[in-house]
Amino acid sequence: MNNTGITRPVDNLGRVVIPVEIRNQLEIKEKDKILFLTEGKDIILRKHQQECIFCGKQKELIDFKEQKICKKCYEEIKGGFINEEEMP
Ligand SMILES: [Zn+2]
Repeated sequence: MNNTGITRPVDNLGRVVIPVEIRNQLEIKEKDKILFLTEGKDIILRKHQQECIFCGKQKELIDFKEQKICKKCYEEIKGGFINEEEMP
């Protein structure tokens, strides 16, 4: 874990600004989601990567019933067929 040496105050609503240097480095943009993890007394902020709920792919995601699915899985579902050879 890197100690950046950067500190930021917590405001009266509990908000903390993520320093622009870190946002740029990790390509965190407005509206991106941040996942909060804790480990002992540490708080770890992680850029939340959206991924397909079926295959885990992180690109070409579509909102489907409040979940993220990739185009490929969406096309499979839309096709409405089940490949019987792949069934358990
Ligand atoms: Zn998928």
